[in-house]
Amino acid sequence: MKAELPAVTFPGGRQVPALGLGTWHMGESGSSPAEEAASLRAGLDLGMTLIDTAEMYADGGAETVVGEAIRGRRDGVFVVSKVLPHNASRTGTIAACETSLKRLGTDHIELYLLHWRGNHPLAETVEAFETLKAQGKIGAWGVSNFDQDDMVELLDVAEPARPLANQVLYNLARRGIEYDLLRWSQVQGVPIMAYSPLDEGRLVGHPVLEEIGRIHHASSAQVALAFLLTKPGVIAIPKSGSPERVRENFRASEIRLTSEDLRLLNEAFPPPTRKRPLEMI
Ligand code: NAP
Repeated sequence: MKAELPAVTFPGGRQVPALGLGTWHMGESGSSPAEEAASLRAGLDLGMTLIDTAEMYADGGAETVVGEAIRGRRDGVFVVSKVLPHNASRTGTIAACETSLKRLGTDHIELYLLHWRGNHPLAETVEAFETLKAQGKIGAWGVSNFDQDDMVELLDVAEPARPLANQVLYNLARRGIEYDLLRWSQVQGVPIMAYSPLDEGRLVGHPVLEEIGRIHHASSAQVALAFLLTKPGVIAIPKSGSPERVRENFRASEIRLTSEDLRLLNEAFPPPTRKRPLEMI
């Protein structure tokens, strides 16, 4: 089956599906790397061609799983990985990226993110990102866990270069960014990658999501993802180590939430009415 996923367009015109694949906890001891790689491949088969990973996950183990999943089918896959803040110096960023490339079994990463803000000056990290870009080792760079004030500072520091995306915690139970950062990002044309879109699985089985799901013959997880798919410029990256649940998550794109569904969701998960500092996991 060929996927009919909504797309998000990055600055510069590259399009990616609005539903990608997370990898946190993959490759950890006690996990099943073969099943995890099969889950990622199930998603790729459906057109969920954006895979999010990080050097932090399982100390590189998740990148190894991604490498296995994309082996022999690298073309058309949009790989996102992240450098840890303590590695994000001018030279450390480059070394970290080269190690990630080896684990991923590839010669480039489409999008490389600073995982969260640390002590290295942003200017140094951006300089390293630009070097990696010039060397063709990354296609673009971005950030994660940056609130609006961090983004404003980043744009100033990086100018004329710009981040391609900001990856933040965003799901029905964590709607804080709807107060400011989401709109600001849409206006700036910087897509938001919504991490933990199922609130790490906690939204699964929520009674209101189940109720809305019954109308659409859908699961609570699918309703939670369908909500994020209504937001322009947002890419949701649910993680599942099960091919069956990846296929279930993909079908969230078939749900058309009605205004009554959205009213029920707003009642159960009220949107923010004041600024709150960006939450992170
Ligand atoms: P999530 O995607 O919200 O939830 C994952 C959990 O939900 C797993 O336990 C998974 O279990 C379960 N699940 C997935 N689909 C399901 C379904 N259809 N029905 C029932 N359960 C389901 O949480 P997340 O992994 O924290 O976030 C997603 C991705 O965002 C991460 O994997 C990572 O790539 C990224 N992330 C980034 C940051 C950051 O700081 N930038 C932080 C957190 C996460 P199974 O695997 O057993 O299916």
